[in-house]
Amino acid sequence: MLGLMQDWPLTVDRIIERAARFAEDSEVVSRRCDGTLARTTYAALHDRARQVSAALRAMGIGNGDRVATLSMNSAEHLEAWYGTMGIGAVLHTLNPRLHPDQIAWIANHASDRVLILDAPFVPIVQQVHDRMPVEHYIVISDDGIVPDNSFGAIAYEDWIAGRGTDAAWGGFDENTACGLCYTSGTTGNPKGVLYSHRSNVLHAMMAVTKDALGVGYQDTVMPVVPMFHANAWALAFAAPMMGARMVLPGFGLDGASLYALFDGERVTISAAVPTLWLGLMDYLKAGNLKLPHLQFVAIGGAALPERVLRAFETEYDVRIGHAWGMTEMSPIGTVCRVPRELADGPFDDQLPHKLRQGVPPFSVEIRTVDDKGDEQVWGEGKSGHLQVRGVAVSKGYFGGEGGDILDSEGWFDTGDLAEIDKHGSVKLTDRAKDVIKSGGEWISSIDLENALLSHPDVANAAAIAMPDPKWGERPMMIVQAEPGASPDADGLRAFLDGRIAKWWMPDEFVFVDAIPLGATGKVNKRALRELYVTQAPASN
Ligand code: ADP
Repeated sequence: MLGLMQDWPLTVDRIIERAARFAEDSEVVSRRCDGTLARTTYAALHDRARQVSAALRAMGIGNGDRVATLSMNSAEHLEAWYGTMGIGAVLHTLNPRLHPDQIAWIANHASDRVLILDAPFVPIVQQVHDRMPVEHYIVISDDGIVPDNSFGAIAYEDWIAGRGTDAAWGGFDENTACGLCYTSGTTGNPKGVLYSHRSNVLHAMMAVTKDALGVGYQDTVMPVVPMFHANAWALAFAAPMMGARMVLPGFGLDGASLYALFDGERVTISAAVPTLWLGLMDYLKAGNLKLPHLQFVAIGGAALPERVLRAFETEYDVRIGHAWGMTEMSPIGTVCRVPRELADGPFDDQLPHKLRQGVPPFSVEIRTVDDKGDEQVWGEGKSGHLQVRGVAVSKGYFGGEGGDILDSEGWFDTGDLAEIDKHGSVKLTDRAKDVIKSGGEWISSIDLENALLSHPDVANAAAIAMPDPKWGERPMMIVQAEPGASPDADGLRAFLDGRIAKWWMPDEFVFVDAIPLGATGKVNKRALRELYVTQAPASN
């Protein structure tokens, strides 16, 4: 017998429609390129998103066509986002931090027909437009002026000016493609993850729950994580879904610019990768500043260093939600959870649980398997290959790249190694390809890096595997010192002694001015391996 409830398609246009109706005057504040702030409301943003739809329709764009953006977080990006998705076209976020050749490669792979870009990115497109499939270029700029270019770009404001605000939205199947985001390519060629309306709506409903990101109407949400990084970790949907105020930081991701928004706009919830918070912490420390309004910060994308967690929770009184996820999971996979009996206890007792990546919210299933593919029992302390299933998990890549990515029972292998405790809480040990295998045993590069990151002179650290004739592989540690500090290998060895197993001690320490970061702000281990593993390293 079937239930007798209505068929109400889960399409994302309903998210912004609801915001415009029930939170019509909630502000959306954007940092413009010139540093000033622009203010709008959900009601106005909704109308302009409809104008974007009308402008796209006038270009012949419709169901399934790819509309790309090369844009930081701003109200205009959000308008383009909903204006595209509302008519059943696919919003493809290109990552401006990639090399221009890679951007062109991805735009071709995706067959993007329209590209909406921020004015500062015009020089990128200028280099590669003759290799792009794009038919129309639209430029978002503070003053409405399009920088010189030879690809016929028009101004965003001119493009939408005078258009009606009644373009039709929705009316298609909830499984219609909605967004396209390529994985950042730290592991092989970028692959397109194709979200559906249904998966985005359900994922946003999961993201707003208390144990996930906990977003409500009273919040002011600032996604520092870019919209081109897996939907700003759901916040581009979750904040409007609840009618929360939004603050969009644009290009200003330095400590001073972010602090000005956290403080001036009274931000209560934010999210970003760990490296970004390290920058903000330096700024706060130098100016002896506090964060009185900020309540919760989601940190993920890479393992959370203990000192960031400690500083935020004990010095700034901000609750940290250490989260794990990936583009293929929309992206939320797990969020840390403190056992009930420790909830009111001392921070140090909570610490090990907060450093774990945590438990999956409803709609995500997890398990680990050993090298032979046999499922492991939780709570035995064994690390294995982390696999997932869920309502917002990919079942294939755009264009069929990578073939069939699920096993016969529908599990997706994340490429991560993890240990799951008896309560189902995940602790990531490594990426399968980053783990260092010494004498047949695994050394967790994450744990090794985190141990060293507690050293006050170390700004960033990356452990990579060096081929070794005796052990197979041995760890090499690449170290970026704090400005003005000059740690040496002996001092770091002494510091690690007792903090890690003896056989984990890196064989070599290499000091660099800056550890290379990938396009989403994570350490680019592939670049490090290319630099140090193929050449003889300059060690000490
Ligand atoms: P890419 O795989 O292209 O780098 P993603 O941004 O989707 O792109 O990255 C997902 C990966 O990031 C995960 O598979 C995992 O290896 C890593 N990751 C994400 N969150 C965490 C975390 N909290 N701790 C450690 N690693 C993490």
